[in-house]
Order: sequence, then structure tokens, then C-alpha cells
Amino acid sequence: MATFWITVYRKPTHTDRYLHKLSNHHPSQKQGIIGTLANRARRICANEHIQEELSHLNKAFLANGYNDREIKAALAPRQRRPDANEQENIINKAFLPYVSQVTDRIGIYRIPCSCGSVYIGTTKRSVGTRLTEHKRNCRLGQTEKSAVAEHALRDGDHKIQFEDTQVIATTSGYHPRLVREAVEIHKHPNNFNRKEETFYLNRIWHPAISRTKVAAQRSRPVPEELPPEQATPPPPTHKYALRRRGGISLV
Ligand SMILES: [Zn+2]
Repeated sequence: MATFWITVYRKPTHTDRYLHKLSNHHPSQKQGIIGTLANRARRICANEHIQEELSHLNKAFLANGYNDREIKAALAPRQRRPDANEQENIINKAFLPYVSQVTDRIGIYRIPCSCGSVYIGTTKRSVGTRLTEHKRNCRLGQTEKSAVAEHALRDGDHKIQFEDTQVIATTSGYHPRLVREAVEIHKHPNNFNRKEETFYLNRIWHPAISRTKVAAQRSRPVPEELPPEQATPPPPTHKYALRRRGGISLV
């Protein structure tokens, strides 16, 4: 029966001369050479020949000026260091497909009411999740948890039109979201947002914001807050600054 020897081949003329210990190289380069040859031995050799090849390397590196301790350390199997991500205790990861207006994480949305007023909300979760909460708050009469529930339970006919909710914008970051929400609230003076929840928007922006279009609504048109004569065009630097600071583009 034929026998195959699978081991490292060296030409008969190979001299086993490697980078000498006294050579003026960085120690890591010297260690690296021994380690690389040891790895090659483990990768190529059949199990019964690995030890033989490692002994050969041991002898070769002794002849190149290295001591036993150095050779032993370099010949030891390399331990792969876990990277930063592996060190965290990750249990499971899930990746959701992107569905516009559903998986958008940070959303500014508008819920209309049958009375013509609107609620401008923001969430850093999906808008769908937040809507489900608003609906539950309405059903259970939890007015302290939701301004929408509070409005729905007011005197008069207030049917919250959840099905007509629109995602006005998606923006990343806490501050841009607050600013954008404030802009939208300003553009919808007939909102039923709670004032204490609203980010204070410097008055200097009011004329600029009032000039921007309000996206078409299904219920009824939203009146502009300022009469047209007060809506003077802002100096260009203001527009620029608004974009710069918040990454906001007005609808
Ligand atoms: Zn209403």
C-alpha cells in the first residue's frame, strides 16, 4: 500500500539560515519569523509529522542564535486576541429590513384630529410603535401619558384620525429632532401639543419658518400663523445657519 508523507519540503540546498538573533531587527520581526514557520508546519504537515517539523525549526533557530525560551515562546500556537466587539457579551442580534416610515428610527409625525387640529410628535423609535402607544393611551383614558389622549377626551367631537398620520421628517440626533419638532409645531398653530414639552425656538426663525410650505393635509388646510406682510424673507445667513446647526431642511 502506498504511503503519502505530507510535510514541509525544503530544497536539498536549503541552508536553514534565517534572520539571525544578532541582526539589527525589531524583536517582533524575529519572533514573527519563527511563529510564521511554526504556523506553516501546523497548516501543511500531516499530524504525525508536525512534531518532526517543529523539532527541525527548533534546531534551525538555535543555530541562528536564539535561545530555548525564545524559540519555545515563538513556536507555541498563536492565541487570537478577541477584538472589542467579541468581548462584549452579545447574546443575539437581529436586523430588520428597511421599510420606509415604519422602521425609520427617528420620526417626526403628525396626527390629525377631526376638529382640524393636529398633534406633532417625535419618537426615536419607530413611528408605528409610538402610534400604538397613543392609541392605547386613548383607549384607556391615560391623559397624563399622551397629549393625544388628553385631546381626544376633551369636550366636543374629537376623533383622532390615526389612519391619516403622516411622517413629516426623519432626522438623526436628539437636538435636530427637537428643533425640527419645534419648527413643525410652529408651522401648525392649531396643534394640541403640550407647551411644556416643546423646545423653545428662537423668535428669529419665526418669519423664515412661516414662509415654508406646510405639506398637504387630508383634513383641512392649516392656516399660516403670520399674515403675509409680516413674513419677510430672512437674511440668507440665517437659513444657512439653520441648516448648518441642525442638519434641517424645511419642508
Ligand atoms: Zn380635536
